[in-house]
Amino acid sequence: MERRDVVIVGSGPAGAATALGLAARAPALAARSVLLEKARHPRDKTCAGGVIPKAVRLLESLDVPLTVPQARVDHAGVALPGGRELAVDAQLAWTARDRGVEFREEERVTHVARDGAGVRVETSRRTYWTPVVVGADGSGSLVRRALVGGGGVTARAVMCDVPVAATSWTGFAGRRYDFDFSACRTGLRGYRWAFPCLIDGVPHANVGVYALPPACGTRLRTELATELARLGTTAVAWKAFPIHAYVGAPRLTAPHALLVGDAAGADPLMGEGISFALEYGLLAAEAICAAHGTGDWSFRGYARAVERGPLGRKLHRLGLATRLFYGPRGRLWFRLAALSPRAQAIGLAWYNGVDGWDRRNAFAALAALFKRF
Ligand SMILES: Cc1cc2nc3c(=O)[nH]c(=O)nc-3n(C[C@H](O)[C@H](O)[C@H](O)COP(=O)(O)OP(=O)(O)OC[C@H]3O[C@@H](n4cnc5c(N)ncnc54)[C@H](O)[C@@H]3O)c2cc1C
Repeated sequence: MERRDVVIVGSGPAGAATALGLAARAPALAARSVLLEKARHPRDKTCAGGVIPKAVRLLESLDVPLTVPQARVDHAGVALPGGRELAVDAQLAWTARDRGVEFREEERVTHVARDGAGVRVETSRRTYWTPVVVGADGSGSLVRRALVGGGGVTARAVMCDVPVAATSWTGFAGRRYDFDFSACRTGLRGYRWAFPCLIDGVPHANVGVYALPPACGTRLRTELATELARLGTTAVAWKAFPIHAYVGAPRLTAPHALLVGDAAGADPLMGEGISFALEYGLLAAEAICAAHGTGDWSFRGYARAVERGPLGRKLHRLGLATRLFYGPRGRLWFRLAALSPRAQAIGLAWYNGVDGWDRRNAFAALAALFKRF
């Protein structure tokens, strides 16, 4: 059995950010940690991965500048009822490895269980023992199911990539992403999207649908076909994904275990998760360093820091917006939002974390709404 001070399961943005946070705060601890990934980077992923300004800032704070090919987006087209090609996760994981965290790919975690004053982690290659395991293993998190337990809701997304040349879409040339909430009118708790992105240097539209339950697969595929028709093209091969959304107050920790990123819960309103994954990871690194100092492995402080700090406050507000916009009076809320371009601008700045807007309270937003923005 191999002993490690920290075992991080999953090398998406959340796991890699945790590793980078450890490397920045406690290089010796980072050197005794391991980052495990069942796949190999760069993973075979469809496009999508819009990175909001907040995520770009967090990447800069980790000293990881975005060097992946990207399609710049300057504005959003939003339809109310009534991209980038991204290998950010690969870049982050490789940077964590360069900064001293051992990174083992093609090693799937198959079983985790509490074992004395720590956790035993079994993988497709070996067995580890560690005082702390980080569940950064995405929406279907094994660590969550085995050690932490319930909470959250599983949303779904379907998406595909279409060469722009095969469409009549102006979004790529116009550096625009399109969000279309019009299907909320007929009960969809989500939206359709089209993002510009580059695949092997070729302009593509990443087209998809995000929905919270109870949307079924057939409904999602019908909405995808509608969006493709709007772009003047027809169905191509698509992929479906679960997205574990932060709804209510999901459990984030157990003794010797903590969850980050989608394993903990992504934005329920839009399914955005990269900026949250980075924030979770940085908080987790801080909590792990503290636990190694104090010997308190409950991680209650981490759960409090997430829930009561800016990250949790934003997720809770997104939960409120989800209940309003996707609820029975959704049409009214969309109509109200459509009335005020200023409210829309504030909402977008808050969502994107521009100029620290997501750290301001509701009074600041109201003051800006009625005075100046
Ligand atoms: C269709 C779709 C479109 C999206 N578009 C956007 C977008 O435009 N912008 C945005 O911000 N977010 C978007 N998201 C959400 C975003 O992708 C996630 O929030 C983000 O990737 C979460 O990072 P993570 O590290 O928590 O999880 P993941 O990125 O899912 O990484 C988890 C990692 O764990 C590994 N893993 C899983 N199980 C094991 C195991 N047993 N053993 C070892 N390794 C394991 C996986 O291989 C994976 O590498 C989208 C999601 C989907 C599904």
